[in-house]
Amino acid sequence: MKDDSLKFVIVGHIDHGKSTLIGRLLYDTDSLPPDKLEEVQQVCKSLGKDMEFGYLMDYLEEERDQGITIDTAQIFFNTDRRNYVIIDAPGHVEFLRNMISGSSLAEAAILIVDAEEGVKEQTKRHAYILGLLGLDQVIAVINKMDLVDYDQQRFEEVKRDLVDFLSEIDISPSYVIPISAKKGDFIAQRADDHMSWYDGPTVLNALDAFKTKEIIFDKPMRFVVQDVYKFDKRIAVGRVERGTIRRGDEIKVLPSGEVTKIKSIEEFLKENVTEAEAGKSTGIITEDKLFIDRGDVIVHPDEDMPTVTDTIRANVFWMDKKPFKKGMSVLFRCATQEVTCDVERINKVIDSSTLEQIGEDADEIGEREVADIVIRTQKPVVVETFSKMQLLGRFVLGTADTRAAGIIMELGK
Ligand code: GDP
Repeated sequence: MKDDSLKFVIVGHIDHGKSTLIGRLLYDTDSLPPDKLEEVQQVCKSLGKDMEFGYLMDYLEEERDQGITIDTAQIFFNTDRRNYVIIDAPGHVEFLRNMISGSSLAEAAILIVDAEEGVKEQTKRHAYILGLLGLDQVIAVINKMDLVDYDQQRFEEVKRDLVDFLSEIDISPSYVIPISAKKGDFIAQRADDHMSWYDGPTVLNALDAFKTKEIIFDKPMRFVVQDVYKFDKRIAVGRVERGTIRRGDEIKVLPSGEVTKIKSIEEFLKENVTEAEAGKSTGIITEDKLFIDRGDVIVHPDEDMPTVTDTIRANVFWMDKKPFKKGMSVLFRCATQEVTCDVERINKVIDSSTLEQIGEDADEIGEREVADIVIRTQKPVVVETFSKMQLLGRFVLGTADTRAAGIIMELGK
């Protein structure tokens, strides 16, 4: 097993080649069960057809419906560099809800556009979703280059249209690649013989160049306090979410900003513990008697720090049947922090199924609507933007039950 894995989505207008690209990625990375591949080849041959990758995906999906083998909601393949998971996006509503609430999470996206047809309405809508999610690792592929005679001029035309539109919604694709999903051009293999004018990476090389968001061990340390036990000494228990915490480390407690040192790391039935790594739940005792509380985030003072603020701009997905009305107070919950907050402004409201903007400077948010809002918390909270760190960049709003899930786009305004 490779130690990191990257999850991504493929979006685009219907018939622009999403299934074909998925099939091709699996085929070129030898990720298909050999017996399945043979079966599909046999079927295609008997129908007098070329091997169709889109057909392959339909076939696998049918099997899934019968409860057998491959799960097409999550498709796996790997390169020499890492493992990949393609997350299937069944529809806008589910996709937005799942992404914002964290039940499935893409770290990158491929936006596919047919070279003949060019940018269509759905291409724009899907791109818009990527913008709402603040996805900053995007590959645009101009597909079916074989149908336009691998013409560079046509590629440049579609590319310009697409990049112009994307810049309006603050997305700048890391790569724009001419491909033929059907022929396998510039997916895993280069196609220099018929597109010698393109000298950028293949789709797989471009994916490999992306970063996974949660390579946790060597990143700045984040210890999230869950509780504080008061025996003869005060032990703050919590989880090392990232990095490593060591005995003797100088630490800063947020939001208070107080600095002290780690006197000891306490683990049940273990003595002389010197460090705890990401993923571990543990207890710490500090040298100075500080008032540490549930919700606090402990960091190293010399490293890149999260923000302490009471003002957050976020995109929220409203899940409750009851609409949110401006003026209502709700509980903001992020990591182990819980604080009452007000929604100061509802900048815009979007219908998650049509992706149409239905309100500006609005007064309420209804069920299944996505809104760009400004929140003010009654006490400062310790947060990061979603694109920087999911743990402190994602929150829920609600009281007893969850009313909305949100991701943080901007801090301090
Ligand atoms: P989806 O709706 O986006 O999943 O699109 P499909 O993958 O089902 O593709 C739609 C049609 O376009 C199918 O008939 C494919 O065979 C065809 N297609 C997809 N990619 C290519 C390509 O690179 N070249 C050509 N010529 N046809 C393609």
